[in-house]
Amino acid sequence: MPLLGTTRVAAVIGSPVRHSRSPLLANAAFLAAGLDWAMVALEVAPGAAPAAIDATRTLGLGGLMVTMPHKADVIPALDRLTPAAAALAAVNSVAWEGDDLVGDNTDGPGLVASLRGDDIDPAGLRCAVLGAGGAARSVIWALAAAGAVEVVVVNRSAGRAAAAAVLAGSSGRVGAAADVAAADLVVNATSVGMGAQSGAEGPMPVPAELLGPHQLVVDLVYQPLVTPFLRAAAARGARPVDGLGMLVHQAALSVERWTGCVADTEAMTAAARA
Ligand code: NAP
Repeated sequence: MPLLGTTRVAAVIGSPVRHSRSPLLANAAFLAAGLDWAMVALEVAPGAAPAAIDATRTLGLGGLMVTMPHKADVIPALDRLTPAAAALAAVNSVAWEGDDLVGDNTDGPGLVASLRGDDIDPAGLRCAVLGAGGAARSVIWALAAAGAVEVVVVNRSAGRAAAAAVLAGSSGRVGAAADVAAADLVVNATSVGMGAQSGAEGPMPVPAELLGPHQLVVDLVYQPLVTPFLRAAAARGARPVDGLGMLVHQAALSVERWTGCVADTEAMTAAARA
């Protein structure tokens, strides 16, 4: 699709931002839907997030994705937040609703959408989330919102675990590694395994002995796609799910909020794998 005078421009803002895969994913969705839209990556210096929101209004950008270090800093400059963004105090997606710029958090909802796309419903599942950083917090909130009966948070730093477990309301609690054995769904939301050699042995967020055939094991790490944790999970008979589904669906939710069109997640996945 050629870029024209009519083309709506969306952007991802971050620092650094050149590594971002968001333009690749969003542009694949625009192309698949035949939309006259384009997405670019814009380097925005730390502290300049409110100015970037003002620029979004001035330039009439079609929507924003927001990455580190701006996820909290954009909030005061926005008109409203969705319940997810308000609970998490973190925004990764900004869309127009009328004349208002509304901040959302699509990370955890992206994982839930990805699971549902694979016919896995978190409702009624006992979940263990490893980690308590930004990705973990969004996943904890979204699993509870999707009806998980229990969300156990296992994290190296106890204080962050406690703050994250609160996001799951009455189904959340802080746990220990041993709790992983009883979970139906295990999500590695730590960065352990990032940068490991694909499919090789390497560092694990919890011992592999805690995993078994009754479990679905998701690793949010997507570089590599086959982490040491997923490799070990598969070897112990668990069903492994890589981080690409969440990456694609969190972007798809943004594209859909911006354009009102259904995002072709298969085309987006193909672009990400190419
Ligand atoms: P973050 O906010 O920096 O949090 C990192 C988490 O990992 C914290 O809970 C931290 O524990 C834990 N951790 C780090 N090193 C550890 C170690 N050596 N041993 C045990 N725990 C360790 O990062 P994030 O933004 O949440 O991202 C986490 C991972 O998710 C990254 O690999 C990122 O690429 C991935 N991710 C994937 C998607 C997707 O769409 N697939 C989206 C977002 C993020 P402490 O609290 O104790 O420091």
